[in-house]
Amino acid sequence: MDLLEYQGKSLFARIGVPVPDGRVAATPEEARDAAAELGGTVVVKAQVQVGGRGKAGGIKLAANPEEAYARAEEILGMNIKGHVVKKLWIEKASNIKAEYYASFTLDRSAKKHLGMISAKGGMDIEQVAAEEPEAVVKVHIDPVIGLPNWQATEMVYRAKLDPEAARGAIKLLKKLYQAFVEFDCDLVEVNPLILTEEGDVVALDSKVALDENGFFRHPDFPNFAMEHDIPPVERMAKDRGLNFIKLDGDVGIIGNGAGLVMSTLDVVSLVGGKAANFLDVGGGAGADTITNALEILMQDPQVKTVLINIFGGITRGDLVAQGIVEAFRRLDLPWPIVVRLDGTNAEEGRRILGEVQSEKLIPAATMREAAEKAVRLAEVS
Ligand code: GDP
Ligand code: MN
Repeated sequence: MDLLEYQGKSLFARIGVPVPDGRVAATPEEARDAAAELGGTVVVKAQVQVGGRGKAGGIKLAANPEEAYARAEEILGMNIKGHVVKKLWIEKASNIKAEYYASFTLDRSAKKHLGMISAKGGMDIEQVAAEEPEAVVKVHIDPVIGLPNWQATEMVYRAKLDPEAARGAIKLLKKLYQAFVEFDCDLVEVNPLILTEEGDVVALDSKVALDENGFFRHPDFPNFAMEHDIPPVERMAKDRGLNFIKLDGDVGIIGNGAGLVMSTLDVVSLVGGKAANFLDVGGGAGADTITNALEILMQDPQVKTVLINIFGGITRGDLVAQGIVEAFRRLDLPWPIVVRLDGTNAEEGRRILGEVQSEKLIPAATMREAAEKAVRLAEVS
């Protein structure tokens, strides 16, 4: 789960990574009040789950509460790369002397954590890495040992940060790594990490991706999602434990396993159609899961046909079929459903499906045949 900047900073603050003081605001009035409370110049920052807000005009300075009100009015409702701004983070402005970059992530192939640091911060790090690879220092960290002082020191010196930033940067890196590990993150990124005129080293931005597999250790983390602006259908799918992504075509796709669902999207596109979504019911889906999945697709008015593509391994064809039968019994399904069932207990599944007395249920023997039928039906409906 990707956190918004202010959420990431709240985690940083919990563990002692220095961040400027700030407040969340959803209206110009709240922004004005926040600025008055914080005092002095503030920065009004759009809270959207996408980078490059600065360049897009989503980050502006305000010298007093009235200016904060005006800047908030400008930024709220702004569309930044497809994300509409509904929330702001009002933060005490910093006096920036230098901007750096730092991050921790996983390097799966090395089976280690990867720390990155650069004296070239505040800009697109991918671009820095492409144009000046030597400007981005990378170190592998043994997850069993953690980040020792010597290694944090090495990072800072090799990246050639300003000497006066060294002490603060080493301390911040250690805290940032601690946050990365303790909060079970896939990524913590700070761009820019700044040196202030006063000599402090502070995280001015935050990008935090939490590993949801670690949520059992952090019972409060699912609450972060409540503050995200997720479309109702996606929220419903999430609540029911399904992986759902909305796309812009008209063929609803349900499959078991991300790989199979992706292949199904490809085959639908190969035969001239466009998928309305990606819905992975995962491995070992039972009857309820399938009924749930169909119920979710009913919320999408763009769907014209549905293609259920199951290749059973752990997932059992008979259970999938029961789920489809149950959906036909309980829901008023508005579209034709093409079903391709293969693998474990597929024969039994097809026998169960044979009991459904509806011309809306269309069997298909292969993935290609299923895709063709679903796409043709979408064209005529
Ligand atoms: P991003 O563009 O989405 O990555 O947003 P950032 O939080 O990284 O902000 C972009 C840029 O805005 C930073 O690199 C800074 O140059 C500038 N900025 C952000 N906060 C402050 C601040 O408190 N004072 C000043 N002077 N500039 C700021
Ligand atoms: Mn940034």
